[in-house]
Formats: sequence, structure tokens, C-alpha cells
Amino acid sequence: MQGNSSIREAIVECLDCGVKFTLKGRIELGQEITCPECGTWMEVVSLEPVQVDWIYDEFEDEEEDDEEDW
Ligand SMILES: [Zn+2]
Repeated sequence: MQGNSSIREAIVECLDCGVKFTLKGRIELGQEITCPECGTWMEVVSLEPVQVDWIYDEFEDEEEDDEEDW
């Protein structure tokens, strides 16, 4: 049965390593979660269905723009 309870389970897939894990309990938009395998931080960006996205923090990862060889 589908109720209005916010307590539920959802399976999400890590954006980084691709492992699937289960979120249990209260799931909210903007909730921060960490991958149990690689520790990547993500946040819940959608509830129906539950989807996660990278957390864009103040600092930016510039691994793709490696400017050390100037
Ligand atoms: Zn991961």
C-alpha cells in the first residue's frame, strides 16, 4: 500500500562508482548522502523517483583542467 508516509526505502546508484545502495527512513529533497563504497557525497534532487546528484560545494574540483603543466 502506498501511503503518505515519508518513511520509506529507495535504491539509489552511486554516481561515482555505480554501486547501488538502499536509503532507509525519511528521504527529503536536498538530503545529503554518502556512498557506502567510495564515500562520494551526493544529495537527493528528486523524490518521485528518488534521484541523486553531485553536491556542488563552494570549492570546485578542477581535475579535468589540470593547469600544472603551464
Ligand atoms: Zn560510490
